[in-house]
Amino acid sequence: MRILLVEDDSDLQRLLKKSLVDAGYVVDAASDGEEGHFLGDTEPYDAVILDLGLPKMDGVRVLEKWRHDGRSMPVLILTARDRWSDKVAGFDAGADDYLAKPFHTEELLARVRALLRRAAGLATSEIDVGPLKIDTRASRVIVDGNPVKLTSLEYRLLSYLAHHKGKVVSRTELVEHLYDQDFDRDSNTIEVFVGRLRKKLGINVIQTVRGLGYCLDDPNAQDEDRAKA
Ligand code: CA
Repeated sequence: MRILLVEDDSDLQRLLKKSLVDAGYVVDAASDGEEGHFLGDTEPYDAVILDLGLPKMDGVRVLEKWRHDGRSMPVLILTARDRWSDKVAGFDAGADDYLAKPFHTEELLARVRALLRRAAGLATSEIDVGPLKIDTRASRVIVDGNPVKLTSLEYRLLSYLAHHKGKVVSRTELVEHLYDQDFDRDSNTIEVFVGRLRKKLGINVIQTVRGLGYCLDDPNAQDEDRAKA
């Protein structure tokens, strides 16, 4: 999952970016409202963390412009403490959640997980796909009760497919959501990573949909569907 972080306080930006990367996300960071707005307008993000007090363009304006132009990604705003009017302005501009500074990083991570989950229509932080369990809180993957060790890219790939469980995800979409803007992207490498991931999982949950992409689904449920058809 790919996240945009717009925060002008460089220390806080660095700290949050590190925490998000450690939690398994790929992160683009912007330090002012104009750059933040541009990135959110041109790149596909799964969620945005947006500070309201920003140079060049304030956060509420950034959010208003995105929403006006039909950008519907989940947005969590960071507000100054005790500024209830900021929260109201933020929600009215289209924010999905807020956090008042100062906050604990753990709370921010929990709120981001909740935003991603809600956007995917999932009820809990654990995603089950037949014998496969993905614990998005601990970034842990379990198959038939046994933990599977994945690289951070393999985890991002699996997590993205899991948040779109049962849907076909194209290779282009995967590339856009697995790498940050500075990465030299090549959609052919996705095939290699999917191959490695399948091998590590050892179960048949990632289907190749010829010409379209990949789909994560419970192999037994697929059999049932076929039996019903
Ligand atoms: Ca600020």
